Amino acid sequence: PVDRERRMQNVALAAALERCAAEGAVPMAVVATAGTTDFGSIDPLPEIAALCDRHATWMHVDAAYGCGLLASPTRRELLDGIERADSVTVDYHKAFFQPVSSSAVLVRDRSTLRHATYHAEYLNPERTVRERIPNQVDKSLQTTRRFDALKLWMTLRTMGADGVGQLFDEVCDLAAEGWRLLAADPRYDVVVEPRLSTLVFRYVPDRVRTSADVDRANLYARKALFASGEAVVAGTKVGGGQYLKFTLLNPETTTADIAAVLDLIAGHAEQYLGESLDRAC
Ligand SMILES: *Cc1c(COP(=O)(O)O)cnc(C)c1O
Repeated sequence: PVDRERRMQNVALAAALERCAAEGAVPMAVVATAGTTDFGSIDPLPEIAALCDRHATWMHVDAAYGCGLLASPTRRELLDGIERADSVTVDYHKAFFQPVSSSAVLVRDRSTLRHATYHAEYLNPERTVRERIPNQVDKSLQTTRRFDALKLWMTLRTMGADGVGQLFDEVCDLAAEGWRLLAADPRYDVVVEPRLSTLVFRYVPDRVRTSADVDRANLYARKALFASGEAVVAGTKVGGGQYLKFTLLNPETTTADIAAVLDLIAGHAEQYLGESLDRAC
């Protein structure tokens, strides 16, 4: 279960761990999320770390999206507690602005990666380990892979971590401005105030409609906008209802861009519901 900000409830986690202990079951891991895909919610990491300590349970943090906060000059503290994790997932192709794909699993104890190691005579014989010849195959389930680290290395060399963090701050600030626009706009309902750079919202007609109509109007608006070639918005479901979503990961995007796309969406949705026509009459 999650709270109103859609963060894991540590009380529920504590109860689940107690239940496992009572049943003699061994939890494999607790997986916290630092930046959920839809809402950017960050689970209470220090509390989760304390529970994992108490139960001697592996703590994994999925920071695929939230990892940009690590480099942020102003929001780093949102990830407090992540340093206590046993393993962390990061997607540099999201919050570090890399082209797909560039991801990593970071582990506290590098010997953990031995579980992914298999020695083949033709590839990475055990002799090479003794001779200390590095081979990425020892740390990965993939044998053949692209040099996904190169672009990240180039970015860090040319921009520095602070530069990346500033850009991530900009998209988070943009989402906060977008939220203000949406919250003040009677045509829209916005779900939660963003922590990161996503906005989940839906068009709501100015007259009472069935929830099925509202769902269809939002779906229609999304498809019509895509077909027009003017913009692409993502979609998701919240409590069974159809919502739209901006994932803002381009620091060049402006509040005016957001406002323009919102007008386009409303136009398509109104057209679907025949609202603007009625109003004109
Ligand atoms: C995107 C995302 C993933 C998966 O990322 P891939 O890039 O598809 O591997 C996992 N967790 C979260 C929270 C994400 O946002």
